[in-house]
Amino acid sequence: MYAWNHDRRFNAYSNYFKHRFGRRIQKLTIDAGFTCPNRDGSIATGGCSYCDNNAFSPSYCNSRKSITQQIEEGIEFHQKRYRKAENYLAYFQSYTNTYAPLDVLKQKFSEALANEKIIGIIVGTRPDCIDEEKLDYLAEIAQKKYVVIEYGVETCNNHTLKLINRGHDFETSVRALELTKKMGLKAGIHLIFGLPNENKEEWMQWTECLSDLPIHSIKFHQLQIIKNTPMVAYYTQHPENFYQFSFDDYVDFIIDFLERLNPQFLIERLTGEVPPAYLFTKPWNLLRNDQMLQLIENKMEERNTWQGRLYKR
Ligand code: SF4
Repeated sequence: MYAWNHDRRFNAYSNYFKHRFGRRIQKLTIDAGFTCPNRDGSIATGGCSYCDNNAFSPSYCNSRKSITQQIEEGIEFHQKRYRKAENYLAYFQSYTNTYAPLDVLKQKFSEALANEKIIGIIVGTRPDCIDEEKLDYLAEIAQKKYVVIEYGVETCNNHTLKLINRGHDFETSVRALELTKKMGLKAGIHLIFGLPNENKEEWMQWTECLSDLPIHSIKFHQLQIIKNTPMVAYYTQHPENFYQFSFDDYVDFIIDFLERLNPQFLIERLTGEVPPAYLFTKPWNLLRNDQMLQLIENKMEERNTWQGRLYKR
């Protein structure tokens, strides 16, 4: 059994930042005006069936503004809320942030890094939109700044990836993670629990294949069905194909999942939070992410368990 020696019951990303930088680091979301091959016709036109970028973008984040302006407004926004944040990471979140020629990437990432309060970048992208040349450039930045490449993996199941119109398979994600590691870079991933035709037993099996991959950090989300996305039509026709978590059920599930997961992986997020106005289905509750996180941690305490407790390596 893996013995836990951290002050929280999972390997929290926020603790990692405190230890690494000695202070709170805040992320600033940027919409740098990229598009996505799953929307512009290169791979597909409709996008992934669950996707609406507006549902998770803060108000200051808008591609009509320059990156410099978004950063300045983001810093102002966060300084009112979190007075202790002195340094920031530019989070290129919207759409596919490596889907452009290298010189465009250089111009956009350099503009963000020109602000002296920005100590690094997080680059959200698709696993099929990265190559050695781009990673080589990012590795050059990583010599001096903090850099993470964040991949939308979403599910380990190729049937689901096809059904939700992701336009790539799980093997592509594995190759991207391995290439990222080979280039000396950190990789984060997103996963969604609740996509159609999947169930808890299958998700629990993912802990084995994921635990062997070169993953630096993970964000978990429960599926939230967003208005005006193709997922609404599918859900309306086939509600029986969706495993419906209650919040309590999800809490127990995510703890069971963490118990079996590689304890080295940093956990950045355990639940997703989309503003209720965007949701087609009713939200679990009106709790914020940090409140839900507290309830999950309380339950881990009650169960006296921790990330990796049942990890077998
Ligand atoms: S989730 Fe990402 S890859 Fe899929 S349509 Fe949205 S922006 Fe494109």
